[in-house]
Amino acid sequence: MNDVSAARPQAIATDLDTKRIVSATEALFASKAGRPASGIEDIRLKAIIHALPGFFFVKDRDSRFVFVNAVVGRHFGIDDLDWFVGRCDFDLFDIETARHHFAIEQHIMESGEARLDFEEAVPATMGGNTKCFLTSKIPLRNNRGEVVGIIGVSHDITERKALEDLRRSQAQLTEMIARNEPLEMILEALVLMFEAEIDGIYGSILLLDSDGRRLHHGAAPNLPGAYSRIIDGVVIGPNVGSCGTAAWHGTPVIVEDMLIDPLWADFRPLVQQFGFRSCWSTPILTAQNNVLGTFALYSKEVRRPTPRETEMVAMATHIAGIAIERKRGDERIQFMAHHDDLTGLPNRAFFKERMAKTLHHARRNGRKVTVAYLDVDNFKDINDRHGHGGGDEVLKEIAARMANSVRASDMVVRLGGDEFLVVLVHQSSHDNGMVRRLRELQKAVLKPIHYRDQQIEVTCSIGVASFPSDGATSEELLANADATMYQAKQLGRNAIRYHSSDRAAGVGMPLSEQEELRHAIASEQLVLHYQPQVDVTTLEVTGVEALVRWNHPTRGMVPPGEFIPMAEESGLVIPLGLWVLNEACRQARQWQDMGLPPICVAVNVSARQFTDRDFGRHVREAIERFALAPRWLELELTESVLMEHADRALATMNALRPLGIRFSIDDFGAGYSSLASLKTFPFDRLKMDRSLIEALPSDKTAVAIGLAVISLAQTLKLTVVAEGIETEAQREFLRFAKCEEAQGYLFSRPLPADQIPAFLRR
Ligand code: C2E
Ligand code: MG
Ligand code: MG
Repeated sequence: MNDVSAARPQAIATDLDTKRIVSATEALFASKAGRPASGIEDIRLKAIIHALPGFFFVKDRDSRFVFVNAVVGRHFGIDDLDWFVGRCDFDLFDIETARHHFAIEQHIMESGEARLDFEEAVPATMGGNTKCFLTSKIPLRNNRGEVVGIIGVSHDITERKALEDLRRSQAQLTEMIARNEPLEMILEALVLMFEAEIDGIYGSILLLDSDGRRLHHGAAPNLPGAYSRIIDGVVIGPNVGSCGTAAWHGTPVIVEDMLIDPLWADFRPLVQQFGFRSCWSTPILTAQNNVLGTFALYSKEVRRPTPRETEMVAMATHIAGIAIERKRGDERIQFMAHHDDLTGLPNRAFFKERMAKTLHHARRNGRKVTVAYLDVDNFKDINDRHGHGGGDEVLKEIAARMANSVRASDMVVRLGGDEFLVVLVHQSSHDNGMVRRLRELQKAVLKPIHYRDQQIEVTCSIGVASFPSDGATSEELLANADATMYQAKQLGRNAIRYHSSDRAAGVGMPLSEQEELRHAIASEQLVLHYQPQVDVTTLEVTGVEALVRWNHPTRGMVPPGEFIPMAEESGLVIPLGLWVLNEACRQARQWQDMGLPPICVAVNVSARQFTDRDFGRHVREAIERFALAPRWLELELTESVLMEHADRALATMNALRPLGIRFSIDDFGAGYSSLASLKTFPFDRLKMDRSLIEALPSDKTAVAIGLAVISLAQTLKLTVVAEGIETEAQREFLRFAKCEEAQGYLFSRPLPADQIPAFLRR
């Protein structure tokens, strides 16, 4: 019984025979019980019984064998059929199976009612697997009609059952595909179905990535995880194990013994470790024969697949192919529904979906989200002058530039026409660099675009609204950013404008921001607050950092993050910085005159200011004017100073250091964190950025980076000042990591100058 198609007719034949045999056997039994029976009949009957394809047996009232046919003997490997006579199932099977059979037979005999065609699982004999039998048991009567035993007819339907199971699983898989269940689940079900069908087999599905280079994990529920991880991402090729090779050629690769096959030469130690010997891999193909992935079966035996297994693999790869193609198709449709054809950027639908999540996240983490509405200035002119081809080129180019100048967590969206949205997600609660980032974006757009030997110059107007201050939902933010963009347009081309509720209320156009700031510097609207820096262990004050604020007549205390970037952009940072420098020196002098212990005052210096030709002179003049010993002045530089103007910066540092002025590198760990810059430039102190501290001490990566930065600084003989310490746990970490100094709300917020003496005396 090895062919599926033969299974049915045989079953019918057996049924037909059963009736005849039962009556004949009854006759036989009766004759044995003393009545004469025809010898010819006896011989004919025996011949038929032994030639039956299935089991045939007769048992007495106690379920002991009276007769078995040759098939039963063969099944148990016993040639002498008389051996069975007088024995029972307890001699052949485990006690549980035997008891089960016994109970059924006794019931049949007591009730006198036959049981026809019931399925029985019969445990393995002589190795092999559990078999499934279709059995009929019929009461055997003597000529007085009394039940004296049973006749059993039974045949092996294991293969047929397996096939039915397979069909059922197949149907389940197709249903999963139709219900659009996750691809991983479908593939996993497929592998599990296989593993249930074939003993000692481990299935694995790998998926080819979109550029057709690497295979990635698809499903391998029972392969060792460590093995799957090593295989994940393997580059395909003509000699890359079974799967890499199968994917490369697009044809099945049967490796009987991985320990000797040259295809596995590079992976031998790996498979040895897991004990696999054979691996048969079949490519999963599209209808057009493009490779989507591979379906592999591993075994710990050296062997080839049987024809039936090969057939099953063909079925499985076919189903896998449908599932994968369907999913890819869905993804393409999804992508098309969410992206703009021309630029490939996400579209408005995508923005709405993503924004809901982004805002939810921001709300939970107390973060800001900035939405910038960007509109190309005079786009109509560009179209008129360069045709639609030129217009499209401009849109594509600026889309690409914008996408390149934002971070992975940000989003650039094309709303349609020449309108774009940029969503900047603030990485930490103090991400003040938004204004700078928007200006960089605007600058990126500004660079001339080459189109057919011509240069097209583009400017854009930007309106900005921020969550949560300018709107709580994506609709509100979009509307406010749009309205603000419109105001920016009215200011003239190439402007960035920030939404503010006052302005929206129509108070009238205020002075341009630059004019306002210029005025502020001259009219003493700026003030310095000072934040103490302390020794982590003793809490002694080691210095203060001067932080500028704009005491705005209508907006109140404006933090530096909101105007320093604009001051840098416009050059106003030079007069502003000069004021800060002088004010800080004056204050330091005043505290010393009050008899307080002298402390170092740190002043932040921006790139534009530091590379200004007059900067060195300004510093010298300031300390001389207030007769401040240079060692009480510290200048804080950020890495951007060093990156952009390395030579000039180094020269200025070398000119000022001999005076005794200290230099610190600010916000280390927030940006590029170039180690080279630490070696090249003669710094005294390193200020570790707050973003590194924020995650301490629970985040393992932050701990590792923190420790690395501190030990690096120690090697370079730099004092480490940790910024933004807010909790005792963070302070504890610093003590543990041997970081000497710290600054943060835990010790003190930035204070107005007149509160510093009290703090120092404490
Ligand atoms: P910075 O130099 O890194 O200054 C530290 C900033 O962190 C300050 O923000 C300070 O108030 C804040 N801070 C300190 N401890 C904590 C804390 O424990 N928790 C939190 N959440 N924040 C803390 P501020 O005053 O808003 O200054 C922001 C940035 O503006 C400064 O960063 C600096 O880059 C720049 N800046 C400030 N004053 C000047 C200036 O006079 N000139 C220049 N060019 N830039 C300045
Ligand atoms: Mg600073
Ligand atoms: Mg800092």
